[in-house]
Amino acid sequence: MADYIDRIANYEEIFWVNPGCIPAEDEPEDTEKIVDIDDAEARLLRFAPFIERMFPEVKDGIIESPLAEVTSAAGLTGLADADVSGRLFVKQDSHLPISGSIKARGGIYEVLKLAEKLAVEAGHLKWDPQTGEHDNYAKLGDPEMKEFFSRYKVAVGSTGNLGLSIGIISAAIGFEVTVHMSADARQWKKDMLRSKGVTVVEYPDDYEAAVAQGRREAEADPACHFVDDENSLDLFAGYSVAGRRLKRQLSELGVTVDKDHRMYVYLPCGVGGAPGGVTYGIRDEFGEGAYCFFAEPTHAPCMALGLISGKLSDIAVGDIGIDGKTEADGLAVGRPSGLVAKAMQTRLAGCFTVEDEKLYPYLTALKDASGIFIEPSACAAFEGLKYICGGEFIPQPDENSIHVIWATGGNMVPEEEKTAYYERGKK
Ligand SMILES: *Cc1c(COP(=O)(O)O)cnc(C)c1O
Repeated sequence: MADYIDRIANYEEIFWVNPGCIPAEDEPEDTEKIVDIDDAEARLLRFAPFIERMFPEVKDGIIESPLAEVTSAAGLTGLADADVSGRLFVKQDSHLPISGSIKARGGIYEVLKLAEKLAVEAGHLKWDPQTGEHDNYAKLGDPEMKEFFSRYKVAVGSTGNLGLSIGIISAAIGFEVTVHMSADARQWKKDMLRSKGVTVVEYPDDYEAAVAQGRREAEADPACHFVDDENSLDLFAGYSVAGRRLKRQLSELGVTVDKDHRMYVYLPCGVGGAPGGVTYGIRDEFGEGAYCFFAEPTHAPCMALGLISGKLSDIAVGDIGIDGKTEADGLAVGRPSGLVAKAMQTRLAGCFTVEDEKLYPYLTALKDASGIFIEPSACAAFEGLKYICGGEFIPQPDENSIHVIWATGGNMVPEEEKTAYYERGKK
């Protein structure tokens, strides 16, 4: 352990296999559920007519992303000989509708759940959890409902993409919404939010400071709901639905996952909520044969540090002298979610870290190989192939295996920035 921590403190890249991971098939029957995935999925279905009304571009009102198979070109694998055992897929949460990142899963889900609760309590919406009977949720888009929701506030602290998701959906519903952003958030994200009527407050400090301030302000106001990226079970539930959605997509392609057809999933990690929820959902849905790994920047490896040290959220990267500064803005987090770190102790197969400079060549290689653009943060996932296909994890992948790169964001990035990232990766 000390060896890993020393290397993390020196900004060195690491690959760590979690000795505490319990294979999904060995998880005791009575393991307490963290969230109810069925409940979350049913809620998203109830809201589908509303989503379709407000965002006609969302097919059937279901916010889901494509799964693309890509060639394992040398530049994508991090391996000199490009030798990926099995098939390589990219799960394009970068192209999730509405907000173009993985935050469109958890962030939008939490705000919808809040709207449902407020509307049901006030008698404006019928939903009987016992019988399952409910109104058509499209009515929540009526002008009277927008007026009703405008009496309530939503606030969030964010490195960017969570703010985009919460801001866009809250504004569509009618909530008065404030996004507290850290200084490292990209300017275009702030501009886009302001253009949609969202209040953006900027902080010179890091993400943790933005969250803390947002939380303090929200707590002082009973009409305000604070989306708590570090502790929210609603966010986690929204992300967890991804497991069954992925399973359906793989089934449509005729791909099964079991002990002889293993799946390795690579997830970029910031505070942990998004990759943690997805990991939870994947284990629940696939069970045996599915292994999830988190990818973090060498300058902000908060989850790796929390898990390896065993201190979970009681340690931050600053405690071992790391600066937390990374160009992977979606991953620029110094302290992991305690909720997620605890849940991952027995569920996560492992973690690895990546130097910032490697993100751009992956970005460019993916664009060249498949035409798909993803943002630098999302590119961290590719680095895992090097370790898994290089034999550093047991069971090793073989020709029956699949690898899923979870591409967590990118589609909303303005064209000039996309081009600049691409050019940088070409060099
Ligand atoms: C937020 C984000 C992540 C990580 O999600 P966390 O919940 O913070 O761990 C990864 N990639 C991108 C692009 C993100 O915006």
